[in-house]
Amino acid sequence: MSDTQSPAIQAPAPHETYRVRYPLRIRRLTVLRTARLSSSMIRVTLTGADLADFESRGHDDHVKLFFPRPGEETPVLPTFGPNGPVFPEGTERPISRDYTPRRLDLVASELDLDFAIHEAGPATAWAMEAAPGSILNMAGPRGSMIVPDDFDWYLLVGDDTALPAIARRLEELRPEARVTALIEVGGVEDQIPLPARSGAEIVWLHRDGAPGEGTRLDDAVSAFQLPEGEGFAWVACESDTAKRLRRLLVETHKLPKQRVKASGYWKRGLVSYHDTHND
Ligand SMILES: Cc1cc2nc3c(=O)[nH]c(=O)nc-3n(C[C@H](O)[C@H](O)[C@H](O)COP(=O)(O)OP(=O)(O)OC[C@H]3O[C@@H](n4cnc5c(N)ncnc54)[C@H](O)[C@@H]3O)c2cc1C
Repeated sequence: MSDTQSPAIQAPAPHETYRVRYPLRIRRLTVLRTARLSSSMIRVTLTGADLADFESRGHDDHVKLFFPRPGEETPVLPTFGPNGPVFPEGTERPISRDYTPRRLDLVASELDLDFAIHEAGPATAWAMEAAPGSILNMAGPRGSMIVPDDFDWYLLVGDDTALPAIARRLEELRPEARVTALIEVGGVEDQIPLPARSGAEIVWLHRDGAPGEGTRLDDAVSAFQLPEGEGFAWVACESDTAKRLRRLLVETHKLPKQRVKASGYWKRGLVSYHDTHND
C-alpha cells in the first residue's frame, strides 16, 4: 500500500520475516461509495479524519470491524490500554470480523475494503446494505508481518476472502519477482480484475462444491512446479483447506516451514474465525 507513512525501520537480514507494530485505536469511518467488483464481491470505500494516521505495510494485514449486537444501534466499542482492548463494564462485546485493507489513499482520505459475499453473517449483511453515509467502526491493523520482497518467486494461494490480500501483493511486489497466484472462486462471474503485472501467472479455479469443500486448490498446489531459486508460499482460505495446502507445500514440495505462511480466514460452520497453521 504505497500511501502509508511511517518512521524508518531497521533493514532485516535477507529473506527474514519481521513484524511491525502500530498503535491501536478505534476509527469511525463513513462510507463514501460502494461498487460491485464481481457477482460475489463488493468494494466499500470509506473516508474520514480518523484515516489520517492509518498504517498498513503488509499485504495480509487486517482491521477488526465492529458491528452492533441485535437490538443495539451502535456497537459497544473498546478503548485500548497496555493490556489490549478494554470494554465498558457490564456490556457485551460487539460483533467483530476481520478484513484486509485493500487500498489506502491518504491524500484522498480513502480506504477500500473488499467483501466476499456468502451465506450472510453480520459483516456480509452490512456490506450488502452499505450506502454512502453508512458508518463503520474499526480497530487496527495491530501490526504487519512483513515477508521481504527479496525472494526469487512467490506463490499466492487462496479463495474469495484472500483476493484483497492477493491483489495487494501483486501490486506491491517488485516488478522482477516471479509470481504465481492460484485462486478459487465460484465461477467466472466471481473473478475480479487483478493488478496488471508482467510475467505473473494467475490461475482461476472454479469451485467443485460449496465454499470450503472440494479439492481444486489441493490439485493445483500439488501440480505446482516450484520455480528455480528461493521462494515463499502464502495461503489463505477455509481453515481445513489451508492446513492441507500447507502440508502439501512442506511435505510434498519440500518447502522449508518458515517459507510457508498458511492461514484459515474462515472455518465452515464457525463465525469470525482466524488461525495460522505452523505445523
Ligand atoms: C486476517 C483476515 C483477513 C480477512 N480479509 C477478508 C477480506 O478482505 N474480505 C473478505 O471477504 N473476507 C475476509 N476475511 C474473511 C472474513 O473475515 C470471514 O469470511 C468472516 O467470517 C465473514 O463474516 P460474516 O459476518 O459475513 O460471517 P460469519 O458470521 O463469520 O459466518 C457466517 C457463516 O458463514 C460461513 N462463512 C464465513 N466466511 C465464509 C466464506 N467466505 N464463504 C462461505 N461461508 C463463509 C461461516 O462458516 C459461518 O457458517 C478475512 C479473515 C481474516 C482472518
